[in-house]
Amino acid sequence: MKRLLLLLPSLLLASCAPSGNAKPTIVASFYPISFLASSIAGDKYDVVCLTPSGAEPHDFELTPKNVTTLYDSKAIFVNGLGMESWVDSLQESLKEKTVTLSDGLPTKTIDSRIDPHVWLDTRLYEKMAENMATSLAKLDPSNVQFYRDNCATFSKKMADLREYCHKIADAFEDKVIAVNHAAYGYMCNEYGIEQLYINSISPDEEPTQKAIEDILKAVEERGIDTIFFEELASDAVAQKIAKETGAKTESLNPLEGLTAKEEREGMDYFSIYRQNMDKIARSKP
Ligand SMILES: [Zn+2]
Repeated sequence: MKRLLLLLPSLLLASCAPSGNAKPTIVASFYPISFLASSIAGDKYDVVCLTPSGAEPHDFELTPKNVTTLYDSKAIFVNGLGMESWVDSLQESLKEKTVTLSDGLPTKTIDSRIDPHVWLDTRLYEKMAENMATSLAKLDPSNVQFYRDNCATFSKKMADLREYCHKIADAFEDKVIAVNHAAYGYMCNEYGIEQLYINSISPDEEPTQKAIEDILKAVEERGIDTIFFEELASDAVAQKIAKETGAKTESLNPLEGLTAKEEREGMDYFSIYRQNMDKIARSKP
């Protein structure tokens, strides 16, 4: 490891060597976790998101460079509930500084498996923000009030988002959506919408013939005119079903990551969540 570092150009070393201005690092597994980390940690820590932008986190695997980042960090924040299978193989010292933000949350199951997409229920995501604030306060007790204040600001924004989404959802008469990947169970539960899906937990699993037939039938019977897919996974099956039923396709972002375009446009959890609800509301026949 030391020998490897010596081989790196000095420019690269500058970013990992401690200096007067260097901030300690905390690591987040994928987008909703890193968004929480930067919202609550503010300027006290540098937040490193492991899953690169444009990548889908369900199948993410650690690179050797990631492992170095984990060792250099003060804490590792994960969603848990099976989203980060790599945690199981971490060395004990890394496991000890890993914080699972979904701990203590009520969960749902889908096809007999735990549904990990808790961040899409704004009430549960708010709890995860509180867990993040508690954890940062333990790590850095001199700034307890700072983390509490950031958490309060975050909760206020979540309350505004919730109010906006309830208005939209109340006016959405169909109360049913068809999606390529069952990421939206928690969101649908929060707003009283039913989710019909092609793939259950992971977006890139091969759906069974029965799952395809079931959704084809449901889409036709219930007059669904939009099949939602997500930009970070394959949309082949969603396109096929849309073609066979005459429905159109539209993207919906399960907030597992941002596309390059969303990043360029400065979008975040709040704006994408609102955009998702707007698209759902427009999807009625
Ligand atoms: Zn997912």
